[in-house]
Amino acid sequence: MVPVIALVGRPNVGKSTLFNRLTKTRDAIVAEYAGLTRDRQYGEAKWQGRTYIVIDTGGISGDEEGIDAKMAEQSLQAIEEADAVLFMVDSRAGMTAADQLIAEHLRKRNKRSFLVANKVDTVDPDIARAEFSPLGLGDALPIAAAHGRGINGMLEEALGIFPRDNAEDEEGEAEVVAEGEEPKRIPGPSEKDGIKIAIIGRPNVGKSTLVNRMLGEERVIVYDQAGTTRDSIYIPFERDEEKYTLIDTAGVRRRGKIFEAVEKFSVVKTLQAIQDANVVIFVMDAREGVVEHDLNLLGFVLETGRALVIALNKWDGMEPGQRDYVKTELERRLMFVDFADIHFISALHGTGVGHLYKSVQASFKSAITRWPTSRLTQILEDAVQEHQPPLVNGRRIKLRYAHLGGANPPLVVIHGNQVEAVPKSYTRYLENTYRRVLKLVGTPIRIEYKGSD
Ligand code: GDP
Ligand code: GDP
Repeated sequence: MVPVIALVGRPNVGKSTLFNRLTKTRDAIVAEYAGLTRDRQYGEAKWQGRTYIVIDTGGISGDEEGIDAKMAEQSLQAIEEADAVLFMVDSRAGMTAADQLIAEHLRKRNKRSFLVANKVDTVDPDIARAEFSPLGLGDALPIAAAHGRGINGMLEEALGIFPRDNAEDEEGEAEVVAEGEEPKRIPGPSEKDGIKIAIIGRPNVGKSTLVNRMLGEERVIVYDQAGTTRDSIYIPFERDEEKYTLIDTAGVRRRGKIFEAVEKFSVVKTLQAIQDANVVIFVMDAREGVVEHDLNLLGFVLETGRALVIALNKWDGMEPGQRDYVKTELERRLMFVDFADIHFISALHGTGVGHLYKSVQASFKSAITRWPTSRLTQILEDAVQEHQPPLVNGRRIKLRYAHLGGANPPLVVIHGNQVEAVPKSYTRYLENTYRRVLKLVGTPIRIEYKGSD
């Protein structure tokens, strides 16, 4: 499971600054779900190959009224959602009553907390480290979020408490080796779980109904739950001799033959399920069309590179005119995920639900196929022949060979000279070429360059 880390502290201690620094390589995402997360911001971050989710919070000032009270409430919720808390204090301002209030709360909640003294560019870090010891959380980790100082040491501590995600050391893997390259492990489908499918979407789009429908199908054999996690429910099942595990964010639980939803929507749960899935079935409500929240969540799916199938639900009982309108709208607004199959379904009546499996299988296959180096290099050579990369300082960019560097999403590593100068548009051209020639469906593809000069 991807660890979730909340940034908590008074207003102005530097939470947003740290949030932006931690998540900067990837777009900060998501989710102002009305009434749910108004003041929280979620982001995916990576450090030394490890992925984690950061929640930024508005802040707790200690004398909350009105908007401040709302903010504090959101911070407290973020603490509940998180696996660990980075409790930030301002070493320039020194310790305050609000800091003590927060420390007390964290101690009471028994949360894994790390005291972080920010802005140590303005004071002696050694003093900052000791200054907050009355909070009873040990020595502070000194950082300067605005300048990137101390961040590695802080993350080493905070992420160190989580077992390394060993998904990449599991069975069912291959090593891909190319000339002059370190072997790189490529995660594959796990034998025991089959294809992991996450059912994702905003509240009320019909996720629980769809989960019920999928599991209630006659040809589906549902196994006893292999154990639930704190966050989503993992339901192994088999259909037409193919194994799947459904990651259910809607919190459907089986009671005898009936599945019922017991939990509320949670952004963290959703983000973790996406991370953990091979394929995401993204559910939208046809009657509402594509709304901002859908785009936020889809953006996150795209960031993680998971295979994607879109289900436009509640297609039943829609007027033909309305249907045409929705289809046009979809085409326009979902251009950025145009690799994904779209299904028009009715989870309520079961229409179109069975067809989802075909897309799930096809996109999974595209996402995990181990393309040989020779094939990828041939495609590269043909693409370069067709369209040369541009000249840079009078020298031609040279792209020599390509090999697979990862799966789900497929990562093509291209070796050559002056690769740092390859324009975005050329990379897009190569992506499209690979996509077309390899007939990829339902998965994004990534390209990475390795220079040899
Ligand atoms: P938040 O309210 O906790 O999210 O705090 P912000 O991230 O908005 O930061 C509050 C102020 O502190 C801003 O003016 C930042 O530029 C400043 N700040 C943040 N980090 C640092 C730092 O490492 N050093 C200094 N000197 N100022 C910082
Ligand atoms: P969730 O919050 O995403 O799990 O959504 P639910 O599965 O609880 O569904 C929300 C509401 O939409 C319920 O009243 C469902 O009966 C209704 N609903 C779900 N799927 C469909 C559908 O395909 N057609 C119609 N007309 N209503 C649906």
